[in-house]
Amino acid sequence: MSRTTSRLLLPYASCLVVVLALLPLEGEVDLVEVAIALGLQGAAAVRLAAAQRLGSRAWMRILCLVAFLASIALLRDGVGPTAGFGPLVFLPVMWAALERRRGELIVALAGIALIYAVPILVAGAPQYPATGWRGGALLLVVATALGFSVLSLVERLRVEVDHSTAIIGAMSEGFALTRNGEIVAVNPALCAITGFSEAELLGCRPPFPFWPADRLAESGARLREIVAAGGGEFELLLARRDGTRFPAEIAAVATDLGDGSRGFLNTVRDITERREHEDAMRRHAEQLAAIADVVRVVGHSDPLEARQTICTTALALCDGAHAVGLWEPGADGGLVTTATRPESARSYRIPADHREHGARVVMETGEPLFVADAAASPHCDRRLMQLLQARSVLFCPIADAGGVRGALAIAWPEPLAGLSEGDDLLVGVLTGEAALAMQRADLLGRLDELTRTDELTGLPNRRAWDELLTHELAAARRHDQPLSVAMLDLDFFKHYNDQNGHLAGDHLLRHAAHAWLHNLRATDVLARWGGEEFALLLPGCDATHAAVLVDRLRGTLPDGVTFSAGVSCTDGTAAPRTLVDAADQALYLAKANGRDRVVVG
Ligand code: GH3
Ligand code: MG
Ligand code: MG
Repeated sequence: MSRTTSRLLLPYASCLVVVLALLPLEGEVDLVEVAIALGLQGAAAVRLAAAQRLGSRAWMRILCLVAFLASIALLRDGVGPTAGFGPLVFLPVMWAALERRRGELIVALAGIALIYAVPILVAGAPQYPATGWRGGALLLVVATALGFSVLSLVERLRVEVDHSTAIIGAMSEGFALTRNGEIVAVNPALCAITGFSEAELLGCRPPFPFWPADRLAESGARLREIVAAGGGEFELLLARRDGTRFPAEIAAVATDLGDGSRGFLNTVRDITERREHEDAMRRHAEQLAAIADVVRVVGHSDPLEARQTICTTALALCDGAHAVGLWEPGADGGLVTTATRPESARSYRIPADHREHGARVVMETGEPLFVADAAASPHCDRRLMQLLQARSVLFCPIADAGGVRGALAIAWPEPLAGLSEGDDLLVGVLTGEAALAMQRADLLGRLDELTRTDELTGLPNRRAWDELLTHELAAARRHDQPLSVAMLDLDFFKHYNDQNGHLAGDHLLRHAAHAWLHNLRATDVLARWGGEEFALLLPGCDATHAAVLVDRLRGTLPDGVTFSAGVSCTDGTAAPRTLVDAADQALYLAKANGRDRVVVG
């Protein structure tokens, strides 16, 4: 039996039962009329029950309604107007009003008027005295007021329900209403999000079909938390009907469903896109931070460090890339690796005649070159593949207004179809900054070198000497090794200048510097202290050895040119100033004792 039919049938059937129960069995009862009345009610009920498909048709309902009212008229006539069946006329009025059927309501009210007016007018006193119209009119007024009030109330409620249903139906977010844990309503969006049909979702209880099978315990625990908290917002991984998973944001609001049961209004939002955006934002933030690193490198004075940071940054910028190499023009027209990441990657030279090499091509065209399949490309060779372990390579020119300064090769260990637009843009920004960083670092590096080098001899100057001395003293202390300092001063150099000219003097100074350097170990430091005076640092040398070593240098000068030297030694604990002063004192003694000698202080 359809829902509509049973809803219509029930009032008639129950009314029939009530009438049968209240039927007085003594007094003057016209049993024929009562029987017809009961028959009419029964017929109305049976008609509705039988007409399952027709049950909701207007004419069928009006027919039943008229039959019911006629049965009441017959009951009043058969049992007597005072038997108390009159108020039964309210029933069809209420049914019509509750069903929002204005036409049926008017028919029911007209029927009431007829039930009371016709007997007075046709039969009249004594059974239906004219005074009875008052009671009938009152009943009609009350029925009219009640009927229309209920009708308007139901219509208002209906509008609100329709409104809410329309809103929920139109929501792009999924919606589910649960009653005592069971899903009792869903909207189309939830079906679209999860891939389950309404029929598959309605009536479901935990574990719900959209919970991933391997996370049932976790999802259940989350649900219990929310129920205990009386609702809230939470994120949960859900599974679609086809098994794919997606992150969802669920907002649950507890609601009292009015019949003593507790429910939750749940909105479900697929936040895959939001997660992707968040990931993209995070990635962009990382990339921007990486670029900020490059910008910081612009002020770097160490050329190698600047280049290594460029490589590190390129790695950080490119998702999945694992190695980077930087090539710059070498002296012979070839390209040489000036930095690689990881540092362990072996460097190699690209010969000048290898015109097709990717690094060479981008340096000539000034345009980036992406090689998806490095093994099959003429732009990559076996050595590059070995160096960077590359399956795909991006070559980028490093250029500024002054021209192309080098080429960067970024390598992926897995084949890559292409670069994303964002990555492309960021690599462009990086290479632009990189050119500037390299230029600045080279310049600053050269400047720094200049400020530490003596122009005439190319030796470290006094400023560099001070730093080197401090550094070597600390090393001597650390390694518990002796450290000797010698001060060397050419004898009668003023006289030499006077005799041979200042230029010859300069030449002698250069000659002495080179000759002495040639006779020293790589770890020794020779600096120009000033004028014709030199300072010598001998790590790991005690005073005796230092004296021998310095003495040996005397044979390197041209005939007739001599020098005097003072030596001092420390185990690393002496202050730099003290050590130099001691060597200076010894030099003074060497001069005082006749020159052309070495004195240990
Ligand atoms: P002594 O044996 O006592 O050291 O006598 P000296 O003549 O070597 O010493 P003095 O300090 O009297 O003179 C040092 C000279 O070195 C004076 C200066 O003209 C000369 N001199 C200093 N710097 C340079 C330089 O860069 N080039 C040349 N050609 N001469 C220099
Ligand atoms: Mg001198
Ligand atoms: Mg001197």
